[in-house]
Amino acid sequence: MSTDNQNNNTATTEKEIIKIVAKQHDFFKTGATKSYQSRIENLNKLKGALLKYEAALHEALKKDLGKPEFEAYLTETGFSLFEISESISKLKRWMKPKWALTSLLTQPGSSRIYYSPLGVTLIIAPYNYPVMLTFSPLIAAIAAGNTAVIKTSELTPACSAVIRQLINETFAPEYIAYVEGEVKETTILLQQKFDHIFFTGSPRVGSIVMTAAAKNLTPVTLELGGKSPCIVHEDAKLDIAVKRIVNSKFLNAGQTCVAPDYVLVHKSLKEAFLEKLKERIISVYGEDASSSPDFARIVADDHFQRICGLIDPEKVVVGGQSDAKSRFIAPTVMRDVKTTDKVMSEEIFGPVLPVLEYESLSEIYDLVNQLPQHPLACYLFSENTAIQQEIINTIQSGNACINNCVFHAANPYLPFGGVGESGIGAYHGFHGFERFSHKKGVLKTATWIDVPLTYAPYKNKIKILRKVLK
Ligand code: NAD
Repeated sequence: MSTDNQNNNTATTEKEIIKIVAKQHDFFKTGATKSYQSRIENLNKLKGALLKYEAALHEALKKDLGKPEFEAYLTETGFSLFEISESISKLKRWMKPKWALTSLLTQPGSSRIYYSPLGVTLIIAPYNYPVMLTFSPLIAAIAAGNTAVIKTSELTPACSAVIRQLINETFAPEYIAYVEGEVKETTILLQQKFDHIFFTGSPRVGSIVMTAAAKNLTPVTLELGGKSPCIVHEDAKLDIAVKRIVNSKFLNAGQTCVAPDYVLVHKSLKEAFLEKLKERIISVYGEDASSSPDFARIVADDHFQRICGLIDPEKVVVGGQSDAKSRFIAPTVMRDVKTTDKVMSEEIFGPVLPVLEYESLSEIYDLVNQLPQHPLACYLFSENTAIQQEIINTIQSGNACINNCVFHAANPYLPFGGVGESGIGAYHGFHGFERFSHKKGVLKTATWIDVPLTYAPYKNKIKILRKVLK
């Protein structure tokens, strides 16, 4: 599948952006997006388009990020197709108003929660999973009966070109529109009135988005980042822990928002853990990971330089090699890392894994709390259910996995999102449908009887009211 080439001259102008948003508001008001039939029809259209462009998207992911085809399917196209199939098969049930209890004061009556579309939505995607992080929110927006304007990252031009072509070919712009551009165009977009903004990206830009949204009182979903800890406790099954940590950390060369950012390993296991980690990395990616077909590249030169700057050569156990021309950074493990080291000062977002040691759980809590952000995810390897519960209850994080990393994001039945600085709101599956819907609470009061309790004159009624509200 060939696609037209993106170039900066194709950036959407301010005039066009204003027109697109106005047309979407007009189109939404016609009610055309709301019916079950139209939502299903459009989800099916999107599914067909994704299947048609699957190979082109894989090729573009290879160009932009050196993404292996398996990863491209697992985490991008296959993931999106699965989300569509889930939405298509469950939409009727999701849209059905849900019964709610009716309190004594509001009796006799019945209560239901209706899910109504929000209206015109804006979806801003980052560079690391450009396909999945565009289509997953879009699927939820369509399923919930909204229109959407899409803005992808300027760092992934090949993917953006395919997505643009896919969207323009599949949907009318008054329903789903693709806006081409960089920061300038995103800034213009953020000045428009939307009914919801769904942003995935860094906390820095998240704050810019939220500030702009506040001017129009537009609600936001912010899917941000942070430093996600991975704890390897003294009773962990070490071989399994090592395999799963290597798998999730070096996926997409570490450019995954929920990648384990750093490992906290129990002191008693540290040496064995480091030894096994080294063996595993070499067995998966070879002595020279640059020739592995299963290892991606860093998206851009400035990100490459930034990540290289986090590596302290004196602490490297395995890896440390890099090549600026191909933006390759080897899977790298650093030992005896301290919280004051540079690598612990920011989200790494690359294939560098610092390993710190601990003896007591309280050291972990102090360390995690000392870092500026609530993590997007927290991972624990332990067979002890009491420890598992304690970690879940003590460490404030968006999500968590026990004896695994990252894969909670692959389960559409779990809400996916951050807490505190790692994000606002969650999505995936029904949670995405809910995120893009307004939950309208509706009380229907019976007319066969008229209870006068709350009507004036109130004389002597307060005693009864106290009993009712007790
Ligand atoms: P980014 O914040 O730099 O960019 C995200 C989007 O914002 C892009 O489309 C970009 O064009 C736009 N943008 C950049 N600067 C802007 C500005 N000044 N004003 C308006 N828009 C602007 O993020 P990134 O570098 O593409 O992605 C990496 C970050 O995203 C990491 O922090 C990562 O943790 C986070 N992330 C989070 C999730 C999640 O689901 N929580 C998923 C993927 C990535």
